[in-house]
Amino acid sequence: LFGNEEHKIVMVGLDNAGKTTILYQFLMNEVVHTSPTIGSNVEEVVWKNTHFIMWDLGGQQSLRAAWSTYYTNTEFIIMVIDSTDRERLGVIREELYSMLNHEELSKANVLVYANKQDLKGSMTAAEISRQLDLTSIKKHQWHIQSCCALTGEGLYQGLEWIVGRLK
Ligand code: GDP
Repeated sequence: LFGNEEHKIVMVGLDNAGKTTILYQFLMNEVVHTSPTIGSNVEEVVWKNTHFIMWDLGGQQSLRAAWSTYYTNTEFIIMVIDSTDRERLGVIREELYSMLNHEELSKANVLVYANKQDLKGSMTAAEISRQLDLTSIKKHQWHIQSCCALTGEGLYQGLEWIVGRLK
């Protein structure tokens, strides 16, 4: 899927958003190399030539500075959202724009997964897009994809968008 080039994807989201589940779906039936722990709150998984670096947003502020050391050469940010978590969408929004303003991420594209679409009362991708004001993002390519990480529905479409943007 990703060819022979090395790629780096940073996957973020609040705790419980579904990051681990999504990664697991991507890596199912694949031989995966998990790097030795690179930090207590950061995980790196290497799949084919793609490095997924993953962490929870909304955690300790003191760790933020350390995370930015992983931003270098990041091509994609995958932001995973629990679509039922209305209360913390504001936190996500803050984090998203703070990341996009980071110099090392100036060329990164953003895929937002509106996860947990199977749950009653979940916000639609359109609603999340509005709340996060995604149309205001002009300097990065972005895409929002509804999905259900439990079944894998929508995940592949999100990856397709990424693959279509690889240089
Ligand atoms: P992380 O903290 O972001 O890594 O989130 P996890 O992948 O550990 O998922 C948190 C919880 O949400 C787990 O109990 C998952 O089974 C559940 N979960 C993840 N994705 C979905 C989904 O699409 N639908 C539902 N109903 N539950 C999900």
